[in-house]
Order: sequence, then C-alpha cells, then structure tokens
Amino acid sequence: MNAAPRPLSRGDASRYATRVTLLGTSGGPPWWDGSDRVGISTLLTVNGSQYLIDCGEGWGPSYRRSGESTPGFEHGIDTIKAVFITHHHSDHTVDYPNLLLLAWHNGSKGLKQPITILGPGDRSVLPPIFGERDHEPEVWNPDKPTPGLADSTDMLLKAYATDINDRMRDNAKQDLREILEVRDIELPEGTGKDPNGDPTPAMEPFEVYRDENVRVTAILVDHRPIFPAFAFRFDTADGSVVISGDTGVCDNLVTLAQGADLLLHECIDLEWVDSLMGPDSPKPDPYLRQHMLAAHTSTEQVGSQAEKAGVSTLCLTHLVPGNTPVEKWERGREGFSGEFFVGEDLMQFGIGVPGK
Ligand SMILES: [Zn+2]
Repeated sequence: MNAAPRPLSRGDASRYATRVTLLGTSGGPPWWDGSDRVGISTLLTVNGSQYLIDCGEGWGPSYRRSGESTPGFEHGIDTIKAVFITHHHSDHTVDYPNLLLLAWHNGSKGLKQPITILGPGDRSVLPPIFGERDHEPEVWNPDKPTPGLADSTDMLLKAYATDINDRMRDNAKQDLREILEVRDIELPEGTGKDPNGDPTPAMEPFEVYRDENVRVTAILVDHRPIFPAFAFRFDTADGSVVISGDTGVCDNLVTLAQGADLLLHECIDLEWVDSLMGPDSPKPDPYLRQHMLAAHTSTEQVGSQAEKAGVSTLCLTHLVPGNTPVEKWERGREGFSGEFFVGEDLMQFGIGVPGK
C-alpha cells in the first residue's frame, strides 16, 4: 500500500513519476481582496505526460511558474495530453480560451497528437428561476442557451476568427483541428438525466478516457442547478487521485473516491456564508443560504466525506472565499483520520514511490 501523499518541495516532486500540482486553489468568480490564489486548476503528471483539470483564471502563467512546463519559447503545452472540465461555471473555464488560442504560441508544434479535451455536454433544459422576481430574465442565446463543451468551443473559436485567420494566413499556424480534439462527455446509457429534479442519481463511475498512463472515470456530483457537474478519478500504476469538482455533500463523490490515495476536495467557509446571509447578518436569507450550501461542501462537512471514502490524504482546494485564513480551513480535518492539508498554489504531491 502507498504511503499517504504529503506536500513536497519542488525538487522532491520531480522524483515522482506520478505527481499532482495545484496550479490554482481559489474558487471564484470574485477577485478576493488580499488573496494570492489564482483560479481553480490542477495538473496531473504521469511519466512525463500531463493532464489538466479545469482552466481557472491564471492557470497558464501558474503552469509556467510551476516548473512542470518545459521551458523555452517553443515549449509549454506540448506535454499536455488531455484536459478535463468539471462543469460550465466561469471560474473553472474563463482561461479555457487561453488554452485554445495561446497553444500555437506555447508549444503546440511539439504535440505528438491533438490534445483531447473533455467536458460536460448540453444541459438541455434551462435551470429554474431562483427566488422572487418582478419579471423573467431574458434567455441568453435562445437557440442554444445551455451549450456543452463542443458547442461552446465552436462558438469561442468563431468569436476569435479575426485572430485565428490572421495567424493561419500571416504566420502559417497549424489548423486548430490538428491540435485540439474536443468532445462532450456522454452520460452512460440508463443514467437518469433529470437536471431540474435529481441531478445526481446513484450511479457507478464510468470511464471517460484511457491511455498508457491513466484511466479516468467520472461521476455526477451535486452542484445544482449546474448540470452535468462531474468529479473525476485518475487511476495510475502509482496510485489514484480524485478531484471533486464543485459539489455539495454527495454520495456519488464518496463512491468515486473510495480508497483513493489523494482526494482534492472543494470547500466553502460557512462563517463567510453566514456573514453574508446567516441569521445574524444584515440581510438574513435562509433560502439563499440553503441554496448555496446545497451546491458546496463546508469545512464542517468535508472531513466526514473523506472519511467515508476512506482516502489516505485529503487536501482542500477551490477555496471560497479565496481570502479566508488558513487557520479556518484547518477545521476541515475534523472527522477525518487520514493526512489533511489546506491547498496552496503550486503545492505538489507525489503519488506512489519516488525514484521509480
Ligand atoms: Zn461551480
């Protein structure tokens, strides 16, 4: 059995064939005063190939700083094999165009094959309107109001047509289809698709990707009204890593994370929520408070989730708000008997045995 993963110094991390780098640890979308954390993004490196999970604000420069990208003008993303988007919230995707458009200028020539990019498909139905309103909000882009990853990528590239045509004609850049292969994650046959009813039917994890380094499975998690919202599990020869995505307390996450070496779990500061809308706040709103807490996991809840899953190490990431002091996040260890850490940008974990 593997030793429980612990944070490593930069030099030590490179001794592990399989390692995890937290590129960004903040949940958004606000820019949090006094926080140095950049937007949520995580990198898994296995035998020199890389897998990027979510593209929060600032992931690119953070990837460069991490030492995990090959230095030099011609390099960078040429070691990235696949990208996984957990859900279509802007704090997870706002620097996705950065990957699509800057790839040319940061190593795409060195790619041996297109980067596989996988993410949730079309929600297919609008979410209900929350709270009391004077009038129904206008539907944005009514022809396709809840696009999945493939459609939204297509629309993003159309929006950047001026740049793309310029680079292809003036700088002889490659056809983007040679470097990007974007697909929606299809739910397995028989999974009840009920975005506005039960977004997380009990289910088994299902495979979404596999290569010589890693098998990736996904499961639906509870980030209502966002649907589909996925957590991902990465199984390698050295051990396993689970990324919760954004989720409230959810049995599917426990199913997916069973026995993993490292669980990276989102977290929300309940005191902060209460300062905004709790019973003693200037604007108490029990309904909105409940709505928010249904979609996220608090420091009071996260430890018992990790305990139920029996993971070796729990590390908090996607911290909301990003400027809550670390001492408060430390409460997340309550109810968990394994190793516990509060994530920091560029923190690294080795999986398995070093020097293999
Ligand atoms: Zn979210």
